[in-house]
Amino acid sequence: MTDTGRPDPAVRLTRADLDALPSYVPGRSPADLARELGLPEAIKLASNEVPYGPLPGVVEAVAEAAAGVHRYPDMGVVALRDALAQRYGVDADRIATGCGSVALAEHLVRATSLPGDEVVYSWRSFEAYPIIAATSGATSVRVPNDPGHGHDLTAMAAAVTERTRLVLVCNPNNPTGTAVRRAELDRFLDAMPDDVLVVIDEAYREFVTDPEVPDGLTYLDRPNVAVLRTLSKAWGLAGLRVGFLVAQPEVAAAVRKVVTPFSTSMVAQAAALAALAQADEVERRCALVVAERDRVTEALRKFVPDVPASQANFVWLPLGDRAVEFGKACESRGVIVRPFAGDGVRVTIGTPAENDAFLAAAEAALA
Ligand SMILES: *Cc1c(COP(=O)(O)O)cnc(C)c1O
Repeated sequence: MTDTGRPDPAVRLTRADLDALPSYVPGRSPADLARELGLPEAIKLASNEVPYGPLPGVVEAVAEAAAGVHRYPDMGVVALRDALAQRYGVDADRIATGCGSVALAEHLVRATSLPGDEVVYSWRSFEAYPIIAATSGATSVRVPNDPGHGHDLTAMAAAVTERTRLVLVCNPNNPTGTAVRRAELDRFLDAMPDDVLVVIDEAYREFVTDPEVPDGLTYLDRPNVAVLRTLSKAWGLAGLRVGFLVAQPEVAAAVRKVVTPFSTSMVAQAAALAALAQADEVERRCALVVAERDRVTEALRKFVPDVPASQANFVWLPLGDRAVEFGKACESRGVIVRPFAGDGVRVTIGTPAENDAFLAAAEAALA
């Protein structure tokens, strides 16, 4: 201890390898931006949320559950796992829930990989993957996206070694919106060793319209496949943190063992049950998002011809070195997007009015 009360910088209390990890940078708050610009409100198209508010019945279910929050939640998450099992046509023993599907991805890495083991994923993909791999001390093996900004499954298969324990396939891919199709995924899975777990992260499955993009749940006859889904995006529960995993029963049981106890809160379980009763409304909202996605994509291609076709609720502008500048230009017009420095910009599909505001900002910045 030094006389400032701070620890001696020469003494390490935490793992040195974590120094290389980026710290989470919170997105710009729309309220702050609106105040700064003197606007009544700013538009946030940065976190892939669906813009239509909580589903009908969810707020009531949350309020009702709130009356019981002095009790622990059901640790087995029985009612919710049963409802998910019924909706997706799988046995409940194949399901594990968690504090968002991000947490489940982390649990899968923890349940499969030790320091020195390898986790393979495409890059650029979901920002959480490098962090998830590092928390287990596993080594990230990043395989560059193909020229169309999608997964290069052939190169990913070639990157698997005897140290590989887990491969992440983000389908559709965040942040590029691209999706792999059944024939190439079949070929990839055929090439995988039996003892490598392939995690198909389907956070955006509900927005997929290409019939050639397979539902990961159709691969569950393969014991080394696990599917991640979330209620954060199409189901509108991002703030409550509910995700789930479907895998062979042994994998699901292993994850339920390593999951932080009670991490699917009582309120989250109640809200998820209420949301799942609104599947028709979810479908209606997703159709609105998809129609807008296609409109926005077409409009953007006038300025950026290589905007890839998206199967998710966001679009990707491969702007390279102009990404950060474009993000700032949108912000100056009250629209918050998500730039990835040196690479591109991800823009969430909002309401038609929000998308119009974004397109006007984009045109001003790019035309
Ligand atoms: C949003 C997202 C998730 C889900 O996050 P939650 O933790 O469930 O909110 C998972 N994977 C990808 C690729 C995502 O974009």
